[in-house]
Amino acid sequence: MDLQITKVEEHDRKPIPPSDTQLGFGRHFSDHMFQFNFDTENGWHNARITPYGPLTLEPSAMCLHYAQQVFEGLKAYRGPDGGIRLFRYKDNLKRMQRSAARLCMPAFNEDDVADSLKQLVLIDRHWIPETEGCTLYIRPNYIATDPFLGVRPSQGYLFYIIAGPVGAYYPEGFNPVGIMVNDTYCRAVIGGVGEAKTGGNYGSSLLGQVEAKAKGFSQVLWLDANEHKYVEEVGTMNIFFMIGDEIVTSPLTGSILPGITRDSSIQLLRDWGYTVNERLLAVDDLVIAAEKGELKEIFGTGTAAIISPVGHLSYKEKRHVVGDGRTGHLSQKLFDHLMDIQYGKVEDPHNWIERIDL
Ligand SMILES: *Cc1c(COP(=O)(O)O)cnc(C)c1O
Repeated sequence: MDLQITKVEEHDRKPIPPSDTQLGFGRHFSDHMFQFNFDTENGWHNARITPYGPLTLEPSAMCLHYAQQVFEGLKAYRGPDGGIRLFRYKDNLKRMQRSAARLCMPAFNEDDVADSLKQLVLIDRHWIPETEGCTLYIRPNYIATDPFLGVRPSQGYLFYIIAGPVGAYYPEGFNPVGIMVNDTYCRAVIGGVGEAKTGGNYGSSLLGQVEAKAKGFSQVLWLDANEHKYVEEVGTMNIFFMIGDEIVTSPLTGSILPGITRDSSIQLLRDWGYTVNERLLAVDDLVIAAEKGELKEIFGTGTAAIISPVGHLSYKEKRHVVGDGRTGHLSQKLFDHLMDIQYGKVEDPHNWIERIDL
């Protein structure tokens, strides 16, 4: 594929924010972006890396009206050896293909996009923070661009990738959060688009999230949409429970986003000899386990936080403490180990890492 590269002029380079607790998430963007267009006449064409800047879209562009859009989230890590690494990024692109197919969007060549993504990261490599825990967050986004208000799949599309430095998710330490079970709204339904990473899922989750925040909880624990009975996901993360000696996570029923951190956690836990079952778990059984003292840990998994330990959960106005309310042993171990793999500090037996700067 022919990739056109236009670099930003030296004097137009943006100042790079310091990698400290102010960095936050998703607020700063690097100097360049990748773009790639599709139309029925030319197929995929005009692959280019350009200075980061506003897009030109018709106000009638279909993505702005009917949510024909999919995205991904992944990171580039700079290890203590200076090496630049990506973690399972081909799985992100595969998932994006599946999301796109669900939204009637044309397939793309994964190798072409993978090469462009690596080029972008290398061109903006000085944006990858050196502070451990800080990373370059990479956001591929794929949108329908036809200027048309009829409801049908678009014929024209833009695929683009932006990136920007993000801070350590836990600047004040790896502390457990409180979550609230929501039995009013739902995130996704079986047969819907819950297993696709598409913007509509997030717009519809905001109200539950805002209400949970107002009550002092940091995340919503979503239940299945049919019966409001089984636990599914927490916020925008997959979720795991340790009950007695069993580790449970929701099966990929169709309403669950198949997280790469979820899959990596299952594999590592099994490597370490734990029993991990992907099975339905009723919230009532979860509460009973908590009351019997058998609920040892809960943690969310996702690229942004890696592992997010849960200290207490509330269901029908009743508060239940998880374990002793502090970060559990497994949450800590998984967090440390995944991070060590991502920074190239330990063996990578599953070949999850690709070093891209050599
Ligand atoms: C992105 C996402 C996840 C986590 O996926 P990772 O591949 O682990 O980052 C989980 N749930 C939802 C709803 C998501 O959007």
